[in-house]
Amino acid sequence: MLYVVPTPIGNLEDITLRALRILREAKIVLAEDTRTSRKLLDHYQITTPLRAFHAFNEHAVVEKIADELAAGADMALVSDAGTPGISDPGFLLVRACVRRGVKVECLPGPTAFVPALVASGLPCDTFHFEGFLPHKKGRQTRLRWLAELPHTFVLYESPHRLVRCLDELAAVCGPDRPACVARELSKLHEEVKTAPLNALHAHFTAKEVKGEIVVVVGGKP
Ligand code: SAM
Repeated sequence: MLYVVPTPIGNLEDITLRALRILREAKIVLAEDTRTSRKLLDHYQITTPLRAFHAFNEHAVVEKIADELAAGADMALVSDAGTPGISDPGFLLVRACVRRGVKVECLPGPTAFVPALVASGLPCDTFHFEGFLPHKKGRQTRLRWLAELPHTFVLYESPHRLVRCLDELAAVCGPDRPACVARELSKLHEEVKTAPLNALHAHFTAKEVKGEIVVVVGGKP
């Protein structure tokens, strides 16, 4: 069995009782960064061995891990924060397990885009999750495609690219399009600001932008 285990995106209390039990009972915890996950496991006095599973070795090790799982080892997969597979390694391993008939359970738990979307006040009945935009090639094409969506869409963005991103969004969606920047969710300096794109641009241009960021944009009216 492979257990996909979401971990906190900022507040260590955001982990379920079942997640803690699975992390304790698994034979191995596959981790994006073993040092980051060791801190989490230490906090909860969990001594399960950790093994590196990250974007740089994912392709190389996925078949071997799927073989071990098929042979009967229970493993848990975690990323540095949130749900593995969501803008994080995980998809290739889950796919390899599904193809081999290895059972996969993904526990419900933390991920950044859900609280950002819900707290934004923008329609969340139908939405598109984009994750990170390409930095260079294909970025403008993707932005123009997103601008035409009739429903809310969600982006992950780094703090040093936020102002540029808001500027680009205003250019393709129009400056009045409602949007939201959700920053440092579940942390001490959490900020969720919903306003037209041009107002968000002005707000975040006026100060140094720090922390982790989700951008939510309303659909084309
Ligand atoms: N697997 C994670 C998830 O389930 O959301 C996402 C991992 S991705 C590598 C990291 C990005 O998620 C950050 O750059 C930011 O866009 C977003 N993110 C993660 N934690 C966040 C937080 N506490 N507040 C706002 N955004 C966050």
